[in-house]
Amino acid sequence: MRRTKIVATLGPATDPPGVLKEMIVAGVDVVRLNFSHGTGHDHRRRAEEVRRIAAELGREVGIMADIPGAKIRITGFADGQVDIAESDVFVLDPEIPPGAGTRAGVGINYHNLAADVAPGDTLLLDDGRIVLQVEKIEQKKIFCRVLEGGTLSGNKGVNRLGGGLTSHALGTRTRHDMEKAVALDADYVAVSFPKCGQDIIRARKSLNDMGFTGGIVAKIECSEALYALDEIIKAADVVMIARGDLGVEIGEAGLPAVQKQIIRQTRCLNRVVITATQMMESMIENPIPTRAEVFDVANAVLDGTDAVMLSAETAVGRFPVKTVRHMAQICMEAEKQDVARTSRHRIDTRFSHIDETLAMSVMYAANHLEVKAISVLTESGKTPMLMSRISSGVPIYALARHEKTLRRMTLFRGVYPVPFDITSVSAPEQHAEAAARLVRMGAAMEGDIVITACGDLPGKGGGTNSMKIVKV
Ligand code: PGA
Ligand code: MN
Repeated sequence: MRRTKIVATLGPATDPPGVLKEMIVAGVDVVRLNFSHGTGHDHRRRAEEVRRIAAELGREVGIMADIPGAKIRITGFADGQVDIAESDVFVLDPEIPPGAGTRAGVGINYHNLAADVAPGDTLLLDDGRIVLQVEKIEQKKIFCRVLEGGTLSGNKGVNRLGGGLTSHALGTRTRHDMEKAVALDADYVAVSFPKCGQDIIRARKSLNDMGFTGGIVAKIECSEALYALDEIIKAADVVMIARGDLGVEIGEAGLPAVQKQIIRQTRCLNRVVITATQMMESMIENPIPTRAEVFDVANAVLDGTDAVMLSAETAVGRFPVKTVRHMAQICMEAEKQDVARTSRHRIDTRFSHIDETLAMSVMYAANHLEVKAISVLTESGKTPMLMSRISSGVPIYALARHEKTLRRMTLFRGVYPVPFDITSVSAPEQHAEAAARLVRMGAAMEGDIVITACGDLPGKGGGTNSMKIVKV
């Protein structure tokens, strides 16, 4: 069984009949709806399709709504895309209407960009594929010289080398996106370009006021975020290493070290982490990954990531199903290595809560005895999340009665959500029932050692306080 979770972005390539279902069968745990592309109607339709297929397959599939926030993007071109060549002049002009861009220039979604850049600045479009140098500014028009040309299509991001470029004017758009995410019952909302913990706290407050009860994903994608990493991690439930924008801002050579550090720090602070962007990039066009991509996915698994993510590979790629299959296979092989199964997580720290202490004790026992499976009863998903901070080869079956809890756990490494109504069982019988459930679903057989964990008060959150090690 694969422990590392797969997040896949939906888009035109996943829309043809049957594709999404095949992707879920191939191993997608969480789908990402990228609000930078597509319409509100597209996202709602895709969300409904995911729920329908998940129910049909009897699988839990989480939905993450990724809202672009302050990301500056070009708008679209009359011909869909243009080719621009080195030394051309290319104008960024907010007055060019969406969809009216040409080889000579294109619109931007941020009216005041001209005030924030200066002649000499290097602007990077489409995750750095297109490089422009600002030559002069006339009112709202930014005249650029093309340093690195290529094919450019609509909606691509605009960054400045060195960072420090964000729109302050996209607040209304963000609010609308948040409302849409809540309306389609997303399990996670991803917040783009947070610079400090307050950005996440504010986003959470807005979302909660709209009735949102899911998890918040902080996308680490600007250089400022690296200076406020601890507070951003603590304010969020999940952290995404958004290597696209982050690589553009800090320079791609710095990414591997930063990825390892963010994964370590996030796990250490009891939060969940996703490694994202260009993991299987060549599979947008090709039916097999490059060796470098195989190593990238495997290395992220060995670094300890909870999930690996696919963006354009599935959203607009030629081989969305094959990409998921390859990725799943690479994860499984990487997880066989010893470093992926052992852990010194919090070995030298003191615990502050009973549930946390219990979770650590279960994992310590599981990793030091021949244990077949762990079965934990959970209300909010917190205990299984804490357990999965410790690297292990032992599967953690998380039994929960709430749909939202089950779907939220789809992102946790090594945790397998199982629908189960604990309130139907009286407290003294919980352990026996949790073990019996493992046997019924084929996760353990007679003679196997399993560990069960529960709380004294079935149906009450945060109360996990007992474990039992039993031979079935
Ligand atoms: P994006 O975020 O795809 O929304 O830009 C991911 C990244 O920047 O890597
Ligand atoms: Mn990004």
